[in-house]
Amino acid sequence: MKSTNILFLAVLFFISGYTFAQNEAEPAKREQGHYNTNRFKQLKEEFATPNMFRTASGAPGPHYYQQQADYIMDIELDDENKKISGFETITYSNNSPDVLEYLWVQLDQNVRAKDSKSPLIEPSEVSPANMPSTFVENYMTEAFDGGFNILEVKDAKGNALKYTINRTMMRIDMPHALKPGEKFEFSIKWWYNINDYMVVDGRSGYETFEDGNRGYVIAQFYPRMAVYNDVEGWQNSQFWGRDEFALPFGNFEVNITVPADHILDATGNLQNRKEVFTKDMLKRYEEAQKSFDKPVLIVTEEEAEAASKGFSKAKKTWKFKAENVRDYAFATSRKYMWDMMAVKMGAGSVMAVSLYPPESNPLWGDWSTRAVASTLKTFSRMTFDYPYPKAISVSAENQGMEYPMICWNYGRPEKDGTIRERIKFGMISVIIHEVGHNYFPMIVNSDERQWTWMDEGLNTFTQYVAEQDFGETYPDAIAPHKKYPSRRGPAKNIVDYMAGDQSQLAPIMTKGLNVYSFGANAYGKPATALNILRETVMGRELFDFAFKTYANRWMFKHPTPEDFFRTMEDASAVDLDWYWREWFYTTNYVDIGVKDVKKYHVTSKMTKEVKEIIAERGILETEIPAMVYMVTEDSEDYEESMKTANLKDIQPLRDYIEENIPVEERPSLKNPKYFHEITFEKPGGIPMPILAKYTYSDGTSERITYPAQIWRKNDGYVSKVIASEKEIVRVEVDPEEETADIDTSNNVWPRQKELGAFEEFKNNSRK
Ligand SMILES: [Zn+2]
Repeated sequence: MKSTNILFLAVLFFISGYTFAQNEAEPAKREQGHYNTNRFKQLKEEFATPNMFRTASGAPGPHYYQQQADYIMDIELDDENKKISGFETITYSNNSPDVLEYLWVQLDQNVRAKDSKSPLIEPSEVSPANMPSTFVENYMTEAFDGGFNILEVKDAKGNALKYTINRTMMRIDMPHALKPGEKFEFSIKWWYNINDYMVVDGRSGYETFEDGNRGYVIAQFYPRMAVYNDVEGWQNSQFWGRDEFALPFGNFEVNITVPADHILDATGNLQNRKEVFTKDMLKRYEEAQKSFDKPVLIVTEEEAEAASKGFSKAKKTWKFKAENVRDYAFATSRKYMWDMMAVKMGAGSVMAVSLYPPESNPLWGDWSTRAVASTLKTFSRMTFDYPYPKAISVSAENQGMEYPMICWNYGRPEKDGTIRERIKFGMISVIIHEVGHNYFPMIVNSDERQWTWMDEGLNTFTQYVAEQDFGETYPDAIAPHKKYPSRRGPAKNIVDYMAGDQSQLAPIMTKGLNVYSFGANAYGKPATALNILRETVMGRELFDFAFKTYANRWMFKHPTPEDFFRTMEDASAVDLDWYWREWFYTTNYVDIGVKDVKKYHVTSKMTKEVKEIIAERGILETEIPAMVYMVTEDSEDYEESMKTANLKDIQPLRDYIEENIPVEERPSLKNPKYFHEITFEKPGGIPMPILAKYTYSDGTSERITYPAQIWRKNDGYVSKVIASEKEIVRVEVDPEEETADIDTSNNVWPRQKELGAFEEFKNNSRK
């Protein structure tokens, strides 16, 4: 290479860097070096090291194990005294490679014990105005005593075992350490006072109807084994009441005794249907198993009303068996109506079921079981075929809570029969959500105590897909809307939250108890992040395959966040470390805009701008070879003729073409007239794809998506040149509001000078 050419390259480099230097009035100060803070750096430091239990691909490893806890339980509900008692035998299998010296059992009802520390961690302030109910509860009543009374803990031979209760956890000291592969059988006898969840909050308890009858939705009601695994050892985070549960899988045999006039349903297959059903109920049940298009009533409104007038002193025992479930729950009342329909699932079918008092009708009769059925179809398509025999939705005011095969859901008509739209869609959405929890976390069994988003976020994302499906299946249910009015999922619905003061909020990767703004942070944000990933970053095909891979890999197992993140990348060949970092590990937000558009024309005459640059560097004009120069319309070098110039008439181009391009290829050379330099800005932290829409002078438009990696070396600004025959008159980013951009005032060029007063107010109030 000749020395002039080397010099020339240096100048060229200088010229191309010139626009940056121009903006700096002061000479640059020497900056300190820095740690690698690039947003596209891999998540090696944040992620746990892959090992034989959990692989780098995000799949369970060759040494993956999980513990098993099998239960045999006799439960009795005392409706008159609102008490529940039980005797349970737990068989615990140590499948780990570790020797266990003790076992930990969870006593979640102790969150409501008289000496519970949960109220003590909530700061309180005097409120200037109080609801009488809140006032009475806060200042005038003794705390409700709803903690466990443990009557005995014994081994299989009936010998008392030593145990220690630490609030919501109980350590069982075994006579001998439990070696790998061994089982330990022990029993616990217990009882507790059931809480009125309308007065004392709770995911479980009873509500009292106007006629004095109660509806019981009973869960976390028995001492439950804690999880022991390769990630945490024994799960040792107490139940404070907020973040939910971590539970091992097992098989259950449960006998539940209730007043003889109660209707009851629970996790598992009913074993003694002929004993507890009337002849009519049996006949209707047969019918329901063949009804795939509409629910069949097993207990009618008239029958429920009739039962509500009595209070049976006789008892009835309902017997269930459930296989491979992580938890157990049931609902019972003499007020319940009951309907069911069949849902095709794989080669067979499962039952969609609802339990509700007459107060919930007609809303529940119309939509509950249909919503259950529709949810099972969508979730099974997105993950795996529903493996349990049924899914039950129970009407329980103020509730929205999930257990294997059964969940509690709010939403009833007003007393005068009016059905408010907010209540109707709230009810359908909560049913879809809670039934969806059968998949996350009941089957894909993540640790809810640690990571709320892993079940709530994944479930709320799939709920959005299921809601849209429900709307398509039942247009009558959603009329006058054309699409189901989903609250969470669409990108623009998270903007208000993301536009809030992020210094006051926590990243998604935060333990549930410590999350600020729980609903938006643990449900809305992760669900939206996944929806954006699916619709905008990855595309449905790649996303759905990876999401399904994750669900199937971790079906009936215990995944961690890394298992999810890694599988999504492994199964799609999309490096998403930057996406997980920004959306899940930080509180950054999205704001991308169009900063400027410059238009250039072409000349072979050296411009004043370039002359000045080379003069500064002591280079003679004659040393510079023939070049193509770019000129803006407002520059001194601009001449009107440049606008209509044919590129093949520009001397250096003509020379190059004649020397290098065969004659037959020359006609296909393009001849752009306009050279637009578009500069995008990114005031927001999160790098996202730039979804650009260019509109030309003739009204046509073109859309180009620049992958997020365009920001990898320039976190604040990036430019792209568009050469075209037509002039660009408008540039817009994210025209369909797909990225949760929190400030759209910079999304369009030319800037709309006059924002309406309302728009301005909205943008200001968001900030
Ligand atoms: Zn949930």
